[in-house]
Amino acid sequence: MTDALNTKRSGEIFGSAKNLMPGGVSSPVRAFKSVEGDPIVFDRVKGPYAWDVDGNRYIDYVGSWGPAICGHAHPEVIAALQETLEKGTSFGAPCVLENHLAEMVIDAVPSVEMVRFVNSGTEACMAVLRLMRAFTGRDKVIKFEGCYHGHADMFLVKAGSGVATLGLPDSPGVPRSTTANTLTAPYNDLEAVKELFAENPDAISGVILEPVVGNAGFITPEPGFLEGLRELTQENGALLVFDEVMTGFRISYGGAQERFGVTPDLTTMGKVIGGGLPVGAYGGRKEIMSMVSPSGPMYQAGTLSGNPLAMTAGIKTLELLKQEGTYEKLEAITKKLLDGIISAAKESNIAIHGQSISAMFGFYLCDGPVRNFEEAKSADTDRFSKLHRLMLQKGVYLAPSAFEAGFTSLAHSEDDINSTIKAFKESFSEIS
Ligand SMILES: *Cc1c(COP(=O)(O)O)cnc(C)c1O
Repeated sequence: MTDALNTKRSGEIFGSAKNLMPGGVSSPVRAFKSVEGDPIVFDRVKGPYAWDVDGNRYIDYVGSWGPAICGHAHPEVIAALQETLEKGTSFGAPCVLENHLAEMVIDAVPSVEMVRFVNSGTEACMAVLRLMRAFTGRDKVIKFEGCYHGHADMFLVKAGSGVATLGLPDSPGVPRSTTANTLTAPYNDLEAVKELFAENPDAISGVILEPVVGNAGFITPEPGFLEGLRELTQENGALLVFDEVMTGFRISYGGAQERFGVTPDLTTMGKVIGGGLPVGAYGGRKEIMSMVSPSGPMYQAGTLSGNPLAMTAGIKTLELLKQEGTYEKLEAITKKLLDGIISAAKESNIAIHGQSISAMFGFYLCDGPVRNFEEAKSADTDRFSKLHRLMLQKGVYLAPSAFEAGFTSLAHSEDDINSTIKAFKESFSEIS
């Protein structure tokens, strides 16, 4: 492969990493298994950019997989963190910063009247499932093919990109008995959900979904889908749970539930609310959240949960997002980028289907529509793999999988978007 990119130092570091950590990484999709070449090892990030250890600069559309919506290492976030750092990194006792972030989340997210902080999206989803079961006294749960809710055993069934990319339909080590209560349906298929409720009367605790899917590429809910789920869950005495770990504070300040006007019973969050530090959260109606220990009997705890550093990064990030015009700006640059990508592909006669909402976008190298994971799988992954490498050579960092959403930030300028579109034009013409 002739490769214009000098990645000598990245190669050396990744070479050593492979002997130290499984696959050389701390999370699988980073390993570039489904695109050409070895992973790029980052040295630092700032604004819309990432620099690798060989000194190459990339315009970054991964944004640490979602948190960097204000741009990497925003000066105000860094300054707030430095101030908090002086007071210590973890208390293991109540701190007023938890109140501040909780108030902000409760004000912003329609379904949330009370919230519990945890350390990751996985933890939030794991706990919310326990809560769904505790509150309803029922064991079964419905999830959708291609939706990812973290790596807890019960959710490792048809779980989207990470799992899909590696070609593992399920994971070994997950007992059948653990997933026996996990029912799955195709996304955007209300009839399938209706059937599951009919086949399992009074046994389903609830339905959990990504209200906009970002873990199987980028799939939007068809009109009526979210509303239909709201009705079906209510009719069947089950809970509706939006996993907004990716969409929270990104699809709009109040998440997808605000944007689409459908209020679930419970919501999970992560990524953006931690502003780049490890934070997850779950919340919902007071009546349900009061089940959580120590206010109620459902046990869930965490040594580092609600720690002052993580709370600070979250608070500052939300303050920045709350400013006038933020989401209009994000929407406009993301749409401009997506329009540019689509017309660049078309110029080279490459089949493409793409969509964007707010600061999230995605495209598949196939004809649309793509309404579910099954349809997403018809995308040309070999071509995407080549595209990914070419874009790196031209200084653009895309998620290393055909089945991931892309993220923009407030730091991406018109110039960044224009040079990204130019890079797409050149790359598409090279692979047409
Ligand atoms: C990223 C993600 C998770 C898992 O969050 P982690 O912080 O990686 O554990 C869960 N649900 C959705 C929708 C996600 O995008």
